Amino acid sequence: MSIINLEMKETALKRIEESTNVLEIEQVRVELLGKKGTITELSKKMKEISNEEKREFGQKLNELRDSIIEAIENKKEILKNIEQLSKLKDETLDISLPGRKVNKGGEHPITQTTNYLKEIFMNMGFDVSEGPEIEKTEYNFDALNIPESHPSRDYQDTFYIKENEVLRTHTSPVQVRYMLENKPPFRMIAPGKVYRSDYDISHTPMFHQLEGLMVGENISFANLKAILTEFVKKVFGETKVRFRPHFFPFTEPSAEMDVECVICKGQGCRLCKNSGWLEIMGCGMVDPEVLKAVGYDHEKYTGFAFGMGIERVTMLRFGIDDLRAFFENDVRFLRQFN
Ligand SMILES: [Zn+2]
Repeated sequence: MSIINLEMKETALKRIEESTNVLEIEQVRVELLGKKGTITELSKKMKEISNEEKREFGQKLNELRDSIIEAIENKKEILKNIEQLSKLKDETLDISLPGRKVNKGGEHPITQTTNYLKEIFMNMGFDVSEGPEIEKTEYNFDALNIPESHPSRDYQDTFYIKENEVLRTHTSPVQVRYMLENKPPFRMIAPGKVYRSDYDISHTPMFHQLEGLMVGENISFANLKAILTEFVKKVFGETKVRFRPHFFPFTEPSAEMDVECVICKGQGCRLCKNSGWLEIMGCGMVDPEVLKAVGYDHEKYTGFAFGMGIERVTMLRFGIDDLRAFFENDVRFLRQFN
């Protein structure tokens, strides 16, 4: 029977032997043993031949198939080993090469200043308190004596979440929460993010504030001046300060505190608009209405409050002239503070 002959076997084994990679040997396997492969086609011929020849044909076909399968498996194993070896050779580690530089991040200048200010106040006995950034209008405005008609409640200035819920516009509500949970005497600061609908060279919709409060018996404006003057000296060194009368809804009397210009030392420059002074924070004696609102005896207790922008303090500390630099995430700017 001549359908299966020696030549056929030799051709197949040669094809296998000449394969140079795993992919090629797989192609050869499909060509020979696949659904439309040579061997499969051969086995279909079984029904065309006479019964007496079938036995021999079947035997030869099986022998041929077995030797092909064996040859393919052997070749595949060899090719796999070769590929693995060459892969290992390519991936050899050259330990003489210089290492990759790890880019280390740093603390954002705002975080640095916040931590620095916190430390100064903590050393003066102040407690640090934090509160939610989504705040009830009750705490953000009402408890602070801010009337319904006050412009700061305006939808244009405040991000409202619901009718009675806002993104806090200052950290003062943290003070309200603190007063509701604590009894005087105490001194505390509340640093954190605040939100106002504003964007230009000196305003960003999110910024950072640090507000503080000291309540007790016989707390006077003299205590306010002493503590805040001490604070300013710690931040800016030995410097002149002044207090100018001002108005805030939740303090009475109120003042704005200035420090002598850190650039021109009072001579007048672009930064201080030639006044020789830089505004640093707002402050004042807590309005008795605010103390009453949280259930304190406003005959017995008095207190003072103050608040400053952390961005402003940072700008003055590091001589930065554009507020937006803090929020643009330019690594060239941020790297200077590492
Ligand atoms: Zn100046």
